Amino acid sequence: MLDIFVGGYLFHPAAVDYSGATCTNGCAYCFANINKESREGKLKGAINTLYKKTPVTYMDMLLNEGYPILLSNRSDPFTEKNKRESIAFFTHLAERKAGVFIQTKTGPGLDECLSLMGARRDVVVYITITTIHDELAAMYEPFAPRPSKRIETAKRLHDMGYMVIVAVNPLNEAWMNRNDLKIFVTDLKAYGIKHICIEMLDIKQRRLGLLSQSKNDRLGKALESVGDKNRMYVRECTEWLVSSEMSVAKKGMPFRTSFFDDIKKNLGKTMPVLQDFVNYCFKKSGGHGIVVGFDDFINVIAKDSFFHKQIGQNTIRAYLLRSGFLTWKDNQQVHSHKDLLRIIWNDGRSKLSVQRHSLFAIAGRDGKRILDENGNVKLYFDGSPHFNKKEVVET
Ligand code: SF4
Repeated sequence: MLDIFVGGYLFHPAAVDYSGATCTNGCAYCFANINKESREGKLKGAINTLYKKTPVTYMDMLLNEGYPILLSNRSDPFTEKNKRESIAFFTHLAERKAGVFIQTKTGPGLDECLSLMGARRDVVVYITITTIHDELAAMYEPFAPRPSKRIETAKRLHDMGYMVIVAVNPLNEAWMNRNDLKIFVTDLKAYGIKHICIEMLDIKQRRLGLLSQSKNDRLGKALESVGDKNRMYVRECTEWLVSSEMSVAKKGMPFRTSFFDDIKKNLGKTMPVLQDFVNYCFKKSGGHGIVVGFDDFINVIAKDSFFHKQIGQNTIRAYLLRSGFLTWKDNQQVHSHKDLLRIIWNDGRSKLSVQRHSLFAIAGRDGKRILDENGNVKLYFDGSPHFNKKEVVET
């Protein structure tokens, strides 16, 4: 099914996701099908949407403007079950000018889809590898190609000139300990692959109850280090990867990176990412404390005129729901990305808010927030993470 990629807002470069039928890789940590046991690709509808001459919906507009399509966020496009539809879909993607972001554990159909794109390299391939041990992966990713095979594919595609991102997502010490990570990164560097994305194993106690007993069992020792322990481990690994000169992406990380610039070079147009603003602030601050405002934010991350355009429908509001119910409830009408970003900038309850990023704090004077002439908060940045934030930092 073709859908606006709401969940990736401000982190993922793709705008629209096409997910095929329910994934058969059987990963124990997968939440993609928890609320919907059986999913269909609805390929015909997706293809028709691609060919609409006059954009009607907000998704049509994103496609019409040439923002990239992701395959796939809620399923793997390259399983035996999805292979045929993915190849069919790629015959149409190859006709379009927009970039494609592939997210996969690799598998049948991947090579066919890439060859349909011919010499084009506006295709970024994100390959998930969570361990270097095949026998371990067989426990919790039972039907996906083994990691050794995925690494082989990553190397081969990199050699063919594709931008390959290796994703240790989720990263858990039980599957990828420090030593394994070092071995893995040494190999990646030897292959010339430098882009790596890492993320936590996001399993809260409440969500754990949603997983079947079999999935719980197959998660094994990884369950011993969820929550804060996993957060600390991922933080430590992020620091190590950055110091090892890998090009790293991790949501909310307190470092600058050219990771997203490299994606942009390959894909052309991309959705706004918060990291662009982090990079800008590092550059502007030059190691000193600075105060930044909403105008800086919008000028840096949403330069494209599309993000300033007023859209009749209220669909953009959906991004808010994923970032926090209260923010969504309090903002009934959102008709441009600029308006959406203003809400996110000012409302610290929103999970996407820059205020929640460890590198930013609310700028104040005499204990009060500083506001710009339009009532937007100003933020303080000095390049150091503020993990225990005060309400307002005196500037
Ligand atoms: S490959 Fe992705 S979508 Fe498929 S089961 Fe694993 S985590 Fe879920």
